[in-house]
Amino acid sequence: MKDLKCGLKSCTHNKGYCCCAREISVSGQTDCLTFEEDENKKNKSMFEAGSDFVKANYSVDTTVACAAKCIFQKDGRCISNGITVMSNDDAPAACLTFIKE
Ligand code: SF4
Repeated sequence: MKDLKCGLKSCTHNKGYCCCAREISVSGQTDCLTFEEDENKKNKSMFEAGSDFVKANYSVDTTVACAAKCIFQKDGRCISNGITVMSNDDAPAACLTFIKE
């Protein structure tokens, strides 16, 4: 999957709101288990945030393992063309593309 949008720009794998991990895991509760906060990115001030504006990199074909009971989940893999990950009230990193089966 190349269209993996992610709003968690403090994550190690995030480049221009795009996930560049080779593989991610999504839990049965739709949490992204691969989310890894990068202390350097997290502690940046507004004026040092140059890397926040890096171009999105959609070239990485990320494999998405998923355990959620979602219409896009097939044999433990996500078969959607793209997903969006964001934080919400319940989780720091959740798949928003989830549609209950
Ligand atoms: S869209 Fe569904 S199957 Fe794909 S990662 Fe999100 S919750 Fe899992």
